[in-house]
Amino acid sequence: MGWLRLHAIAARPLSFGRAVERYWRMATTYRPTRRSLLASAMTAALAAVAVRAHAQGSATPIAQPREATPVAFAARAQEMRRLAIERGDQAYGAVVVRDGKIVGEGVSAVVTDRDPTAHAEMQAIRDAARRLRTNDLSGCEMYGTSRACPMCEAAAYWARLRRMHSGEPPADDGAPRLR
Ligand SMILES: [Zn+2]
Repeated sequence: MGWLRLHAIAARPLSFGRAVERYWRMATTYRPTRRSLLASAMTAALAAVAVRAHAQGSATPIAQPREATPVAFAARAQEMRRLAIERGDQAYGAVVVRDGKIVGEGVSAVVTDRDPTAHAEMQAIRDAARRLRTNDLSGCEMYGTSRACPMCEAAAYWARLRRMHSGEPPADDGAPRLR
């Protein structure tokens, strides 16, 4: 007998005392079946996985370039651009770098996500913030395939990115400013 049925029976119009007595009897004699136990265990396991995935942000680790150089980071941004084109999106890519490591990747998703703000740089900032589990990206630098638009530069400013670079080979676009 499931809990739902217990509740349904308990909700029948009975005198209050009788209802409590009946409910109590059923609740104390309730024995979970193997199937209901298995279902509960599976639900708990799935919930644990979901909570962990959420806490860790994007789960797949980022493959790092062989050499931690500006040229290699700019090349990775170009890879993100190619991915965007492959997906039928706008041709932009970006990565966020900290201490010589790529900590966020961004593929333009304006078309695929139907999101006018999903520029590659915004995606890279969001990815880095999720992975690093902080909204403060101080010490991070951005490498984009094109010079950031005012929206993305403002986002980089709010994220406290140190510097922006664009193109291949990467040009120094300076510290992000709020225009
Ligand atoms: Zn932009």
